[in-house]
Amino acid sequence: MTTPSAENHSDIRDAVAKLCARFPGEYWRDLDRRMAYPADFVQALTEAGYLSILIPEVYGGAGLPISAAAAVLEEIQRAGCNGGACHAQMYTMGTLLRHGSEAQKQRYLPAIAEGKLRLQAFGVTEPSSGTDTASLKTTARRDGERFIVRGQKIWTSRAEHSDLMLLLARTTPLSEGRKRTDGLSVLIVDMREALGKGLTIRPIRTMMNHAATEVFFDDLEVPTENLIGAEGKGFRYILSGMNAERMLIAAECVGDAKWFLDKASAYARDRRVFDRPIGQNQGVQFPIARAYANMRAAELMVREALQLYESGANPGPEANMAKMLAADASFEAANVCIQTHGGFGFAEEYDIERKFRETRLYQVAPISTNLILSYLAEHVLGLPRSY
Ligand SMILES: Cc1cc2nc3c(=O)[nH]c(=O)nc-3n(C[C@H](O)[C@H](O)[C@H](O)COP(=O)(O)OP(=O)(O)OC[C@H]3O[C@@H](n4cnc5c(N)ncnc54)[C@H](O)[C@@H]3O)c2cc1C
Repeated sequence: MTTPSAENHSDIRDAVAKLCARFPGEYWRDLDRRMAYPADFVQALTEAGYLSILIPEVYGGAGLPISAAAAVLEEIQRAGCNGGACHAQMYTMGTLLRHGSEAQKQRYLPAIAEGKLRLQAFGVTEPSSGTDTASLKTTARRDGERFIVRGQKIWTSRAEHSDLMLLLARTTPLSEGRKRTDGLSVLIVDMREALGKGLTIRPIRTMMNHAATEVFFDDLEVPTENLIGAEGKGFRYILSGMNAERMLIAAECVGDAKWFLDKASAYARDRRVFDRPIGQNQGVQFPIARAYANMRAAELMVREALQLYESGANPGPEANMAKMLAADASFEAANVCIQTHGGFGFAEEYDIERKFRETRLYQVAPISTNLILSYLAEHVLGLPRSY
């Protein structure tokens, strides 16, 4: 299944596919059973330079556009691997790149590009605030040359496998800001120094292997030099990176959908029941064909969002629609793939049930479908805000 594109990055796609072939289904199944982190896979991606593809050349990265990062992530998923182990490094560093000081960029970016430092953790969501980010309760109180951080994050992916965390915390009480989103700040937390000195990480077991954790801050000291940009403007900085995050996750979902569709089509051609291939029955082939059409439509929206982004726009509607349509397309393809395989769709050794569990996440994270619909209703269609 190939799709034409001006910005196809076919060399990158081929190279990523080759790398992924070294990490077949058995590798992922074993990790899934043990809920273990794919350290070798992430190391291979790091060594090949894929995780620093967006870092400018002057800081040691490849300095490629976001469509190249999307191509990398799409191919990882399409090969049956899981980019969820490391995709955040691609978009969290955007906050540092756009809003960090020159000294911060010099300190962190070359080391990240070299693979000596991992920026994989992104601490925004909290147990009591959920999607309502402005009501988060973790505080960072200034005390001379340091902030004292107190509070808790939940669903912080990869915290145990990252050196740095980008943390959103409240530096001014909610009651003192003009807007609810005022008074939030972004800090870089060096977790290597912080563990056991005010930082505790606790893993959460989930239906798929995603290295999810909860993170507790108990008067953790963070130097004020680790503040990104201006104090109190953090919500804006995080928001400015979210379109990139949505587009990259959407590219992953397109890759997942292609993997499921390849598997479903191959099985429907080969599997014979009632003395003919099951794919000869329209009841089997139509759902696969429909899922393919929906994947292609989502892929076009992803491409439009990427093109707008690369031309200098910050395309909120397109990035959000791309994320929603691609997540829907991947889940539809996953469901169709299981149905096409009948009982074998549930067998671990086919990898389908694992990928099904993995791609289900993107209906909820990093933003749930309802919130995307609310965004479109309010900001594109001019309907009253619903919350
Ligand atoms: C495996 C995993 C990894 C994650 N990784 C990270 C991470 O690395 N860093 C991080 O900060 N967060 C992370 N998250 C958190 C994720 O972004 C949130 O789970 C997600 O944004 C939804 O927030 P919530 O779980 O608090 O749901 P809630 O906000 O409690 O919402 C629950 C449900 O209600 C719906 N809902 C809520 N409000 C409205 C409304 N006004 N209108 C309509 N529907 C509404 C939502 O759509 C959702 O379906 C992760 C989550 C998971 C499960």
